[in-house]
Amino acid sequence: MKIGFIGLGIMGKPMSKNLIKAGHELVVYDIVKENVEDVVAAGAKAAGSVKEVAEQCSLIITMLPNSPHVKTVVMGEGGILEGAKEGTVLVDMSSIAPLASQEIARACAAKGVKMIDAPVSGGEPKAIDGTLSIMVGGEKAVFDEVYDVLMKMGASAVHCGDIGAGNTTKLANQVIVALNIAAVSEAFMLAKKAGVDPHLVFDAIKGGLAGSTVMNAKAPMMMDGNFKPGFKIDLHIKDLNNALETGHGVGSPLPLTAAVMEMMQTLKSDGCGQDDHSALAKYYQKLTGTEIRG
Ligand code: NAD
Repeated sequence: MKIGFIGLGIMGKPMSKNLIKAGHELVVYDIVKENVEDVVAAGAKAAGSVKEVAEQCSLIITMLPNSPHVKTVVMGEGGILEGAKEGTVLVDMSSIAPLASQEIARACAAKGVKMIDAPVSGGEPKAIDGTLSIMVGGEKAVFDEVYDVLMKMGASAVHCGDIGAGNTTKLANQVIVALNIAAVSEAFMLAKKAGVDPHLVFDAIKGGLAGSTVMNAKAPMMMDGNFKPGFKIDLHIKDLNNALETGHGVGSPLPLTAAVMEMMQTLKSDGCGQDDHSALAKYYQKLTGTEIRG
């Protein structure tokens, strides 16, 4: 099946390559030329614009930073809806606000385009392995139609409800990840300041109740002082913003999320927005003047 893929960044690049490996013909577009060249070298065909992708493909995947980018690419001038035929399926895999997914899906429906929101969890390593966790909102029939394609990029794809439900699930995921990284940072700094080697703390507790996928992935980065992204602080701020806005909208206060958000904002102001989100450890390093590393 010929698939359009728009947004070839940290995630979109390996995801699109997995579709090529699975035998799909891909037509790709990104505003960054080098990203397009990289995926073309793996076997994709480059389109000159978003509209051109839409004209050529009846299944289109988008993997863009946030709501405004997806709105522009889908609803903007020269966007997907200008080129798409009736019956085209749009799978937006970006992490965006659930309300934005609903607004974009309404504009799609008016042109006979069927949209689902299908954000992912797992980060670059799982995007490369094709083992992402995919959470989907939208019509079940459309989910069923694209399930096999989703499973070329993921280890699981779960239909969570109507349009926007995928992104609501992703916000829950991002709240848990952010708070867990903050907790690991706080606890490892406590150990370091109290004179216990964080490596030994990690070995001692990782198999117990405090153990987590987040701790396994992020504690070694903190102990190495390696904050190369991965998932950037700037993108996590975007997700927590969407979580806070959604929480306020539905009457679900998020006090812990608000606290970690301010920690991330502090780091951003300090020039760390492009660091991996494990750089929350740096917040504690600033408070104590001590590094977890070493
Ligand atoms: P990224 O910034 O690396 O990639 C985004 C890509 O979109 C870039 O290549 C950019 O050039 C392109 N783009 C932006 N505007 C465009 C436009 N108008 N037309 C065409 N291309 C355009 O971001 P990423 O890390 O790949 O993340 C993408 C999405 O996936 C985000 O919503 C992010 O929150 C989510 N996500 C990321 C990770 C991760 O670990 N990086 C994990 C899970 C989910």
